Amino acid sequence: MSISIPFDNSYARLPAQLFTKQLPTPVKAPRLIAFNHALAKDLGIQSVPDDATLASIFSGNEVPKGAAPLAQLYAGHQFGHWNPQLGDGRAILLGETTGPIGRRDIQLKGSGPTPYSRNGDGRAWLGPVLREYVISEAMHALGIPTTRALAAVATGEDVFRETPLPGAVITRVAQSHIRVGSFQVLAARGDQDGLRALFEHAVDRHYPDAESPLEFLNAVIAAQAELIVKWLSVGFIHGVMNTDNCAISGETIDYGPCAFMDSFHPMQKFSSIDRNGRYAYGNQPDIIVWNMAQLATSLVPLADDRDAAVEAFTAAIHAMPAMIQRLWRESFNRKIGIKDPTAEDEALVTNLMGLMAKQGADFTNVFRALADGDAGDQFTDREAYDDWGKRWKLRLETEDNPDKLMQNSNPVIIPRNHQIEAMITQAVAGDFTLFENLMADLATPFSQPQKIANLTHPPSEDQQVKATFCGT
Ligand code: AMP
Ligand code: MG
Repeated sequence: MSISIPFDNSYARLPAQLFTKQLPTPVKAPRLIAFNHALAKDLGIQSVPDDATLASIFSGNEVPKGAAPLAQLYAGHQFGHWNPQLGDGRAILLGETTGPIGRRDIQLKGSGPTPYSRNGDGRAWLGPVLREYVISEAMHALGIPTTRALAAVATGEDVFRETPLPGAVITRVAQSHIRVGSFQVLAARGDQDGLRALFEHAVDRHYPDAESPLEFLNAVIAAQAELIVKWLSVGFIHGVMNTDNCAISGETIDYGPCAFMDSFHPMQKFSSIDRNGRYAYGNQPDIIVWNMAQLATSLVPLADDRDAAVEAFTAAIHAMPAMIQRLWRESFNRKIGIKDPTAEDEALVTNLMGLMAKQGADFTNVFRALADGDAGDQFTDREAYDDWGKRWKLRLETEDNPDKLMQNSNPVIIPRNHQIEAMITQAVAGDFTLFENLMADLATPFSQPQKIANLTHPPSEDQQVKATFCGT
């Protein structure tokens, strides 16, 4: 039985300078770690074969019928510095499937070198592959737009970082892999035809109602503003919000050094390479505005009247912080049970978060405890909380069913760093129990975990993860 994927590869029909045709490089001994059957069904994948054949396909050893493998070209600002050419250095787009949930990219990551690899080996090791698999699926279960994970395959080969590590390939699914950097590279090269083609393609795929570059920009801005507020609402820190990791679709993409906060601090960061905290938790709203300004700049050459475009795009960018602020207020007030917040209600949230920061309270557990009626035991200085709690309870008297609102807004569990690290350590030793249990529990993050009892526990002192790594 051979797999059947309803491919229709529209990106491969774009002008040739936007990508390079590239086959995956075969691996020695592929072995299936995980396959997302529910997602496969949504993608219209039929005739799902046995595990050995799945491993062969989703390691890149066997290219499925209808695929048109390619590496995409893009550029980007990395930590604010312009890099004129990046591109898929360790990823290969197999093609686009057109199943029940619509058009989706199917991409192998870790599938060997491409012309954009430069010094890299085009490979990934098991740790980052499992991290992305678990965290991206957890994000989806939390209701946050994200790329998905279709498969993880061990390659049977070592990859060399500082030491030899077991290699793996992840199959990533996205509405598309078009990034801010996809536009930037064409604008920077003065490639009008390429830019126009990419623009029309992106409009068709993501924002078919947009009738001009300005409307397209506004649509991306709205999607990204919503996304970043969703990240903030669960304590998520992306860690590497470079413009090449910023998707036009408004999906979270690139789970490198990302992390969920345990103890709340507004400027928390984990990424080992983010020395100055550019991508710290509380900087994410500013950075997304900066990234959207880079997109706007790249769209200017599409306008007939460039001066007018600059003026209109600038206004769109300037409107973004207030938009984020409004979404943030709505989101965080829902987390404390208030549906239609006033300015005073915003202060109620900031007061609570001030207490949380001061006392290093656990982000997830405080909000969940509120949903259960009282968060006093989450604070070391209970008195300070009680004072806030009294004002809060009084305010909730005029709300309709605030408990339900909070229970739906505040997850019980998130993928905690120390659990992810423990899962990876176990998997490298050949045991995937924790991986499977995490996947099972994180599929329903608004319910109590069934498999891992201590999943709600913050890390103990010696379990704390202080830094995360890109995994490249
Ligand atoms: P990332 O940090 O994953 O967003 O990657 C930034 C750039 O480095 C992209 O162009 C990647 O394709 C490239 N890259 C990352 N890891 C590797 C690798 N192991 N081999 C080749 N290129 C890589
Ligand atoms: Mg990237």
